[in-house]
Amino acid sequence: MSDSPQWDVLWRNVRLATLRDDAPLDARYGELPNGESGALALKDGKIAWIGAASALPRRANAAQEYDGGGRWVTPGLIDCHTHLVHGGNRAREFEMRLEGLSYEEIARAGGGILSTLRQTRAASEDELYSSALRRLIPLLREGVTAIEIKSGYGLDLPSEAKMLRVAQRFSALPLTVRTTFLGAHAIPPEYAGDADGYLNQVIDMMLPALAEAGLIDAVDVFCETIGFSPAQTERVFRAAQAHGLPVKIHAEQLSNQSGAALAARYDALSADHLEHLDEAGVMAMARHGTVAVLLPGAFYFLRETRLPPIALLRQHRVPMAIATDNNPGTSPVTSLLLMLNMACTLFRLTPAEALAGVTRHAARALGLNDAGTLEPGKRADFVLWNIDHPSELSYAIGANPCHQVYVAGKLRTLPAALIDAAASLSLKNTK
Ligand SMILES: [Zn+2]
Repeated sequence: MSDSPQWDVLWRNVRLATLRDDAPLDARYGELPNGESGALALKDGKIAWIGAASALPRRANAAQEYDGGGRWVTPGLIDCHTHLVHGGNRAREFEMRLEGLSYEEIARAGGGILSTLRQTRAASEDELYSSALRRLIPLLREGVTAIEIKSGYGLDLPSEAKMLRVAQRFSALPLTVRTTFLGAHAIPPEYAGDADGYLNQVIDMMLPALAEAGLIDAVDVFCETIGFSPAQTERVFRAAQAHGLPVKIHAEQLSNQSGAALAARYDALSADHLEHLDEAGVMAMARHGTVAVLLPGAFYFLRETRLPPIALLRQHRVPMAIATDNNPGTSPVTSLLLMLNMACTLFRLTPAEALAGVTRHAARALGLNDAGTLEPGKRADFVLWNIDHPSELSYAIGANPCHQVYVAGKLRTLPAALIDAAASLSLKNTK
């Protein structure tokens, strides 16, 4: 059949940042040498061919051809750590703290994580969906094509299931969604003083039910002096393993509990935060291929001063991902591009490391094998940018140079009804 085209789509006149990990050292973004013009061919929603336009096969042909206008193309961005689905927000608490109220006074006024817990439990699924959508839309507009969403503000079976169902509803959009069960986020008020009693519920009742319902892709624990101990964390990890689910951990954010090393021993996909991580922890992560997820938004919002051990992570070749950590208490961030800038300014990552952190390494932190780089066989999730060089994505603050987003090869548009759904609830919520 010599006249049927070999490809569905052929993009010409693009500049490629493939983010492939086998890229040469002088091409940190996986770009072509000497600013050469690139081409990208798609078939069945996947990348079929990618490279210099001059290297295209002589008889290359496609059903449709597009001109990229010389724009840069990167893989779709991946936000690999969020608590996007939650009730209410904590803006009033933020305000009270800046007006001089103490934590105790704020807690007495009903603030803190318990206020989010209360509002999440009280909210209907539609309310949670609309409020999370409001936070998701800016991420989509910046080129996010995959996102991880955690539970952890319900802390009982019906409410955790509700959060996870809402998160999974977003996979009806052109978007890859990964859900993580974070039942071990905090101790709910009905179990105050009885962490182990609550963990029994998490392990014996919630985890099996949620896994059975197909609501979770991974299991996470908040391992911290104000969260769960390493021994308690390990109980949850063993249960996750018994259900065949990969684990993740919030570790070494406020103190060193050696949580990252513990998680690495359970072959965790990622250990996240890591400001207090030591070299033994870094080495354990390197040995087990655990990704370091850095969360500069929370570092900034909490005005932390202790930096994650970037030099050690580099030295031991631990992949570093970056995410928004979108959550109402410590990181009300809805811009992944801003996180690129903060990873560079606050943590001193290079712009190429930062971009790899929201593409290749973020994919790995979610166990997504078909995303994160531009190479043959991967899903055709990519972004066209109005930039002169990929470093601009980390350099600019408050800009959004995203031109177009493609998911599985198709242009993603945000329907007006979706924007309306987000806007109408925002009015209801401000009462
Ligand atoms: Zn988090």
